[in-house]
Amino acid sequence: MNPAGPKNPAWIGSRRLLRQLRDIMAGQGAAQERLDQIAVLIARELVAEVCSIYVRRAGDVLELFATEGLRADAVHSTRLMVGEGLVGLVAAQAMPVALADAQSHPLFAYRPETGEERYSSLMGVPILRGGRVLGVLVIQNQTQRNYDDEEVETLETTAMVLAEMVAGGEILGLDEARYDSESAALPGRLEGVPLSPGLTMGTALVHRQRVTIERMLSDNAGREEERFRVALEALHIQLDAALERPDVSAAGEHRDVLETFRMFADDRGWMRRINEAISLGFSAEAAVQRVQDESQKRMVQSNSALLRERLLDFEELTNRLLRQLVDGGSDDSIQLPENTILVAQSLGPAELLNYEPGVLKAVILEEGSANAHATIVARALGIPLIGRLTGLLSRIETGDDVLVDAENGVVYLRPGDEVTANFEMALAARGVRLEAYRSLRDTPALTRDGTKVSLLLNAGLLADTNHLKETGAEGIGLYRTEIPFMVRATYPDVATQTAFYTRVFDEVDGKPVVFRTLDIGGDKALPYLQSGTEENPAMGWRATRIALDRPIMLRHQLRALIAACGGRELSVMFPMIAQVSELEAMRRLLDMELARASRAGQTVPTNLRIGVMLEVPALAMQFKNLLPRVDFLSVGSNDLVQFLFAADRGNPRMEGRYDVLAPAVLNFLKRVADECRANGTHLTVCGEMAGDPVAAMALLGLGYERLSMSAAGIGPVKAMVRSLSLGEFAAYQSRLLHSSVPSIRRHLHAYARDHGVEV
Ligand code: PEP
Ligand code: MG
Repeated sequence: MNPAGPKNPAWIGSRRLLRQLRDIMAGQGAAQERLDQIAVLIARELVAEVCSIYVRRAGDVLELFATEGLRADAVHSTRLMVGEGLVGLVAAQAMPVALADAQSHPLFAYRPETGEERYSSLMGVPILRGGRVLGVLVIQNQTQRNYDDEEVETLETTAMVLAEMVAGGEILGLDEARYDSESAALPGRLEGVPLSPGLTMGTALVHRQRVTIERMLSDNAGREEERFRVALEALHIQLDAALERPDVSAAGEHRDVLETFRMFADDRGWMRRINEAISLGFSAEAAVQRVQDESQKRMVQSNSALLRERLLDFEELTNRLLRQLVDGGSDDSIQLPENTILVAQSLGPAELLNYEPGVLKAVILEEGSANAHATIVARALGIPLIGRLTGLLSRIETGDDVLVDAENGVVYLRPGDEVTANFEMALAARGVRLEAYRSLRDTPALTRDGTKVSLLLNAGLLADTNHLKETGAEGIGLYRTEIPFMVRATYPDVATQTAFYTRVFDEVDGKPVVFRTLDIGGDKALPYLQSGTEENPAMGWRATRIALDRPIMLRHQLRALIAACGGRELSVMFPMIAQVSELEAMRRLLDMELARASRAGQTVPTNLRIGVMLEVPALAMQFKNLLPRVDFLSVGSNDLVQFLFAADRGNPRMEGRYDVLAPAVLNFLKRVADECRANGTHLTVCGEMAGDPVAAMALLGLGYERLSMSAAGIGPVKAMVRSLSLGEFAAYQSRLLHSSVPSIRRHLHAYARDHGVEV
């Protein structure tokens, strides 16, 4: 459906086209006759001189089955291989192709029998069903025409109708259709972005696709309004029931997520827009879909990561509502194959929670992003997740075997024996490694020559506190407090925050925990804080800068931390400090809250420890004034290195260009370690490098003894520490610090290999 709504002529066009397609499909003629009619119809509706339908036959051959505009005697005689010519390209890539000047494309393959030399532009879309390419639908124009997205969409809609005819055996006969579908199911390998780690194999389950709306229009608005009201009520009941589930109430974040949904379902603006669409003559389901399409268009055009993530929430809500309207929400309980690998375009967090966690082995998505709610939930549940797998849905169907390597972001579809055997070996090796790490849990992190190293956890979800026990980490070196804020639709008040931090204190059970105050802004957007668009958000209004401009947010957070802490030790760390004066301003706000708590007769922390993150290089030039004012310093190498090299940490093109193991970084870090040691300031590294065994070895060599990392890093880093003779290594590394190479990683790996250090 076109998002622009009923008044837009393009939308009216696609509505008319769909109606005519339906009439042709319901007609009495033979399949060939109907194909011919469809070709004529599409050519007319899309104002093209040519419309051709190619069907994939056994042996990867694309045969011209119907045409309007090309020579009639080419039908059933023109054949192309998949991958041959532009038509073959559409089939091979399973993606649309739209070219104003098709003839200059290197793959253009001229077929004299068709008479197509007169046509300049070409748009082709795959005829897809269940992830298989069953054919290609093409239009061509004599003039150079730039086809727009709406026209591509219209052609894709038609291709969906054709896919039903081909798969139903009407065109090829069932045997050949089935043979084709199987022969198209070749092994495949897709690369995406690992979002939650792990390695697993299982069976694909394609997450329910959009509900098909068959009845778009209605002449009884009153009845449609009533249907919408009833469906919405049923949805409320469903969400309330989900909130009651014991596993949901047990986990704080899950509850937040579902409550966010509940709030969306009550959104007055959303309901009003749906009712308006109904009054225009849409059926209730078409109205719901239309409002979703409109929001989608608005949100996708916006550059805001936050809006795009909100869109997923609304999309999930829309799908649930459509299911209610179309089939009474009947198929909500999903039968999962054993070892389910869930496959989807994108996924809302509540949708993820709908699947039984024990059976769900991994999630693979065409979209997905590191900060999406579903990603946060997957990480907390330990479910491997890979996102941004382009073309995934067109290449997979329910029941396919899948191998998921969420360490490297690679998915193997329908793997052959050799790939599976290799993967099984990797899986077994990983199992052995994990077991070996588990066995190290209660052993001290001591180097061979007796240096004690503190290994700490980076956390951000309540579920993370479980990792303390599992890994044997000494405490939490970085609690990213912004994550609980990000999974909520509204600002959590002081009472909510206090309850949350109290649980953290209780669950760490006396082990130290460092709370970092809100590091929001940049890519970590909050639904309730408008920051406007910024050209360089990583260097923009974020973290401490927001806290100083909106002090009430920080004061609320500090108030909650003081209340939750009671008489225990409180460690607070301020992010993105660039100047000593900023630390002082933050400190004044903290003192105000401490005084407030004392006045109110509250117990204040027995021991207050203040720290700052070293993320902005300029701070390192102010140690003389800074160090006497702090109890500890934590190196946020993720941000620090992006600023040292002026290279965006989120830009894939910068990946691999600069290494944290560059002498420039290591010399910088060595100065930091030397000065902190001379001043007696506690020093930790909590950026990602601390969890990478080779980089952690380099840090130890520079004099760092406290490393904070994600749970998965603790075992491997401890194994490295226990196999390292630090004195000897530090002497070796110090000679490399003056080298002109861009990275000493290779040298460190060689050293580790030669000296039996496990990295
Ligand atoms: C860092 O910058 O290294 C850090 C730990 O903070 P974050 O990754 O949350 O920005
Ligand atoms: Mg940072």
